[in-house]
Amino acid sequence: MTKIGNLQLLVCDDCGKVQYPDREICADCLGGTLTRKTIDNGGELLSWTRLHASLEPMFQQALPWLIASVRLSSGPVVVAHWVGAEPTMGQAVQVVMVDDPQDRKVLVALDADADEKAAGQLFVADGGSA
Ligand SMILES: [Zn+2]
Repeated sequence: MTKIGNLQLLVCDDCGKVQYPDREICADCLGGTLTRKTIDNGGELLSWTRLHASLEPMFQQALPWLIASVRLSSGPVVVAHWVGAEPTMGQAVQVVMVDDPQDRKVLVALDADADEKAAGQLFVADGGSA
């Protein structure tokens, strides 16, 4: 069963800016103390694309694969896997963290009104996991 979790990103202890991607110092104030916190997972879809080819066997079995660019309400723009019907520019979305088949935490975006459990179905193997 795929684990679905809250969106947790690094936040600067000095200025409060949410960091993405992870980094060692704050991109805004250069503060050196960043703490991983659960942040609001709402956002707006900025762009998306559909992959039709991949060198990764896991993705080859599931093509086409949709990738979304999302501006989080907390500030940063993140890149996430997309789950659901074809997205619409500007649509309200939610972003959750999911463990992929290699137990890496990845971001998954889906419609703001969708059941987040749908994000857990993204990496369900159909018998051919590597
Ligand atoms: Zn800062």
